[in-house]
Amino acid sequence: MAGNANPFEEMKKMVDKAGKTLGLDQGMIEVLKSPKRELHVHFPVKMDNGTIKVFTGYRVQHNEARGPYKGGIRYHPQVDIDEVRALSSWMTWKTATVDIPYGGAKGGIICDPKKMSLSEVERMTRRYASEISIIIGPEKDIPAPDVNTGGREMAWIMDTYSMMKGYAVPGVITGKPRELGGSLGRPEATSRGLVFTVREAAKKIGMNLKGASVAIQGYGNVGAFAHKLIERDFGSKVIAVTDSKGGIINEKGLKYEEVWAHKVKTGSVIGFPGSKPISNQEILELKVDVLLPCALENVITKDNASKIKAKISGEGANGPTTFEADAIMWKNGVLVLPDILANAGGVTVSYFEWVQNNYNYYWTEDEVNKRLDAKITAAFHEVWNMHEKHKCNMRDAAYLVAVKRVADATRLRGFYP
Ligand code: GLU
Repeated sequence: MAGNANPFEEMKKMVDKAGKTLGLDQGMIEVLKSPKRELHVHFPVKMDNGTIKVFTGYRVQHNEARGPYKGGIRYHPQVDIDEVRALSSWMTWKTATVDIPYGGAKGGIICDPKKMSLSEVERMTRRYASEISIIIGPEKDIPAPDVNTGGREMAWIMDTYSMMKGYAVPGVITGKPRELGGSLGRPEATSRGLVFTVREAAKKIGMNLKGASVAIQGYGNVGAFAHKLIERDFGSKVIAVTDSKGGIINEKGLKYEEVWAHKVKTGSVIGFPGSKPISNQEILELKVDVLLPCALENVITKDNASKIKAKISGEGANGPTTFEADAIMWKNGVLVLPDILANAGGVTVSYFEWVQNNYNYYWTEDEVNKRLDAKITAAFHEVWNMHEKHKCNMRDAAYLVAVKRVADATRLRGFYP
């Protein structure tokens, strides 16, 4: 995780706050904060030089009151158990905010895939998949991509799980390549959902997105596609972007096609012709209309929150803003579109993918995108109405919507035995 705040503790503060407003009793609040199951795995992988390396990975299943566990798998050197706990619970709140019939889970491996060969990443992925196969499955827990994983890894996991079962099980994982039962529109889905929430927010505050200035922190799957979509569909002007190696700024605007081609060619956005360098910290403080933090958690903290000048901050990343930073931004009039709403487009289309796998009938891309728009727009307005009703920020409002849904489901199911 980036920054110092512990994201699991941050999550608990949010649930405490929402639980109190909703009048939930303390026992229920404890149930909602606690991950139900945590699997820690330490497993060997043969490296290309003949040595054996032991990797550590996790799969945390936070809550399944509303349906099977759901959530991605991340590969990063800073993965730790509290981060995965927080990420798993954010999936519970995310699936509840957009009202899809899932709970929340998350997985991660402590590793640096950028320093590993393709075959090492494949062996690590397959071994991790076999280690967690005892708790995943199309009716139990359905993983998906997250930071540093994508269709390639999902294909290996689908294959490993299917080999162990003896037949193809496409529904065990989402975010697969199209050829294996992946959904059209899934690769861009998180970014598409993000720009839909920005579109709705802009309408609410009377901002014209055409020509609006945008800064994007993070240029992986979410940040790069957000650049493409906000430029192409709304005519906004992206003036700065960063990735893990550094960043670039050009007040006249940066074109997606050109920046992406540069990143593919050189491995980073840095050194893009005609741009000046900018750091991952500085980009957050630019005077832009829309800021899109699309990298890691804890990047906006009490130390820099008062320097955020954007009118809208749309969270493509999970957990980019700490609890204390949120309060400062709310006071300063920055409209924060919280992660559990703003980046829920990915898991929403994962749900569509799983539905298509389960009934073996596939939709057109247009159908997927329209259903996504309907889901995200409806969720945005529910959260917005809650924010007006309780005169609270959008994150508090999203938690009120989500925590209520999960608490209601828990109460209806009752407590076993
Ligand atoms: N990793 C993504 C997220 O944080 C997608 C999860 C999924 O599709 O299950 O929402």
